[in-house]
Amino acid sequence: MTYDLVVAGARVVTPSGTVERNVLVKDGLVAGLSSAVPECGRLVRADGLVAVPGMIDPHMHYGVYSPVDEAARTESRVAAAGGTTTMMRMLRLGVPFEEGLPAQLEAASRSHLVDYAVHASVFDEGQIAGMGFCAKMGVTSFKIYMNLGGEVGHVYMDQPPGHGELVGARVEVSPGIVEGVVERAASLGCPVLVHAEDYEACGCGMKEARGRGLDGLGAWSESRPPDSEAKAIRQVCAAARRHGCAIYVVHVGSRLALEQVRRERALGTEIRAETCPHYLALTHEGRGGYLAKVMPPIRTRADSESAWGAVRDGTIDAVGTDHVANRLSLKDGSDVWESLAGFPGSGTMAPLLLHHGVNAGRITIEDFARLTSGAAARIFGLAGKGRIEEGADADIVLLDLRTERRVEAGMFGGYSDYDVYEGQVLRGWPAVTISRGEVVSEGLDVHASPGRGRLVLRLRGS
Ligand SMILES: [Zn+2]
Repeated sequence: MTYDLVVAGARVVTPSGTVERNVLVKDGLVAGLSSAVPECGRLVRADGLVAVPGMIDPHMHYGVYSPVDEAARTESRVAAAGGTTTMMRMLRLGVPFEEGLPAQLEAASRSHLVDYAVHASVFDEGQIAGMGFCAKMGVTSFKIYMNLGGEVGHVYMDQPPGHGELVGARVEVSPGIVEGVVERAASLGCPVLVHAEDYEACGCGMKEARGRGLDGLGAWSESRPPDSEAKAIRQVCAAARRHGCAIYVVHVGSRLALEQVRRERALGTEIRAETCPHYLALTHEGRGGYLAKVMPPIRTRADSESAWGAVRDGTIDAVGTDHVANRLSLKDGSDVWESLAGFPGSGTMAPLLLHHGVNAGRITIEDFARLTSGAAARIFGLAGKGRIEEGADADIVLLDLRTERRVEAGMFGGYSDYDVYEGQVLRGWPAVTISRGEVVSEGLDVHASPGRGRLVLRLRGS
């Protein structure tokens, strides 16, 4: 038999351990692992590299600041260069799903370079009624924003395809909406992703800090304190236990929130937690400017260390980037309050986790694989994804743990014109990204065409 592609010479991280084998690929799937190099259409020499499953980013925002028909092209380019072969988009619509979702999915199907899946945010009763429609369209996970309501209820929705202008809205994710989403998701057998910050606490905290004339990322953190995260986690988990719903708390990075996750798990809640590279790599202590403004805020060094601890002890299941494809012109305001929250992070996920994690001895390469692909594939039921073994999709990223490179704005070819990590020299980068058996990126050189990426089939998660 002639194989389409063989990856030879790498150490390969598989579900049953790390082995020195060649990966054989046929028809986009892993056909087997072998110590031989059989005849093949393309041989990828990977001596000295580590092969891990193509990364799955469970948390990306694109389609907000540019419409998805453009954003999927630019941001899936970043993803491919960064080693991500499955992008999970946080869709936010200001209209009923029946009205807005089909056009979003149609535009997405023409525009991605790598595979993708969608989480649907739910903001009101009408959208709760449309959750069944989403599930029929292959969107089988839902997101709630407990930070949005009252005086802090403003949000930018995703633009309709081909649009080109920001779509602002006011929403009220009240306790009743939270309960309704959790109940409906449970009945559909779908997990709920939770942005866990209590909007009343955040609204008050921000007003107070602003009134006192405070500024900077430290003030931003103080105004949205970790106990507002813990409070929201407590509230949603009580609802989850009532209805038997699986919860996935996104972007947890503070000690208090992590302790709350452990407590809820001990109470029997089916709860998973995600952190982001910025909670592991950044603190507000000694950091000037407003670029790293994000919700929830980056915290202290002690919080960051507890996030690393949670990554190691399994409190954290997955790492997602919370990638936001925005630009400096909107981002940077006159003070922290006027600056836009969120920043790009897809391109730097692997190097940050390799530099600060694997190469610093904080996590193993097997942890890296679990955190960046295996867990998300299981939790969100991504068929064929998250593992290198016979029969799985041949989504593979070859990592060079020794290469050093300086982060530069725009280096990944995305929509954003700045990078929070600009100037940092990181050790450990993706060398080659393979998506369903096709080499889509070598170094930062991406060669794949829009439309090749597919909506990933979703099974029930576990
Ligand atoms: Zn987010």
